[in-house]
Amino acid sequence: MNLLVTQDEHRKVPESPRVEQMVNLSSKKLRTLAGLAAVAGLSLALHAQAAQASGGVPPQPAAELGKTAQPKATIQGEQATTLASNTNIVRYNRLYKTGAIPASKCKEVNVSLRTAAGVKAYDQQLLNCMWAAWAPILKASGANYRVKPTMVLYGSKANTVCGVISSPTSYYCGHGTKAEIYIPWGYIANMWKNSPTYARAYATNTMAHEYGHHVQYMTGILSASWSRQYAFTTSAAKLEESRRRELQASCLGSAYIGANKRYYPMSAGLYSQWKYLVEHSGDIKGYPRDHGSFANHGWWSHAGFYAASSSTYAGRCNTFNSASSRVS
Ligand SMILES: [Zn+2]
Repeated sequence: MNLLVTQDEHRKVPESPRVEQMVNLSSKKLRTLAGLAAVAGLSLALHAQAAQASGGVPPQPAAELGKTAQPKATIQGEQATTLASNTNIVRYNRLYKTGAIPASKCKEVNVSLRTAAGVKAYDQQLLNCMWAAWAPILKASGANYRVKPTMVLYGSKANTVCGVISSPTSYYCGHGTKAEIYIPWGYIANMWKNSPTYARAYATNTMAHEYGHHVQYMTGILSASWSRQYAFTTSAAKLEESRRRELQASCLGSAYIGANKRYYPMSAGLYSQWKYLVEHSGDIKGYPRDHGSFANHGWWSHAGFYAASSSTYAGRCNTFNSASSRVS
């Protein structure tokens, strides 16, 4: 048994896209860091939205990640620890052959995000709807889809099974047959003060991205990707693996959003703010290139969303079988 930690820090998040802020946005980003630690019986991924002092990849894992509690028998056993088999899992996963993601038909919850209660109501429905919409896809992928993440709202700090969150952080923690998504409600509430529409787009996209990591977890991709990352010997290769994993989480999240766009609806101002958000998220100068460029983050988000069609597919999100330039 071991602990898998995927840590994503959105060190800088674009503020509401008002014109006067455009100049500053080139130096801002939605940062994602990922890290992995090996501990008994746990597997987790976490997301941060706020700055931490140093960049880089969190604690290195010591152990056999392929044996992390996984829903798929195919990644259990000794073979799963090899780079080749992990590459098979991330690159040729049955997830990529699943059909159209169904629309959840969930409407956006019409509530102010100024309060914890508001954020909770808003995000809990999103979570419930993602759980339902992804069910047929994950079952078709062969995953044993029985782990529904629990949403936990917190202020500035939280102690979790996966570790301590010390900055406002959206945080996915999967361990065995359980998973939690931590949401720093105050962060979203502050965003709401500046731009309610942007806060809605942000809250929606963040939950969708976190759920993208859950899809990765359920299909074995999360663990296999981490195993690959640690098997690589160069920093450049490790960072590229991180970018593939993070860009995929955004793509999968956007695929859910796109599948349900007519019902939510993700249109008009909310869509334009969402578009702005995903096109202004990614790596910035001075930090590790672990998340992807703004351009590629936008590209994969749109690939998932696929606004030109009513059908979206997880197979559009195979970042692990894409050219390096597409995950730069
Ligand atoms: Zn992430």
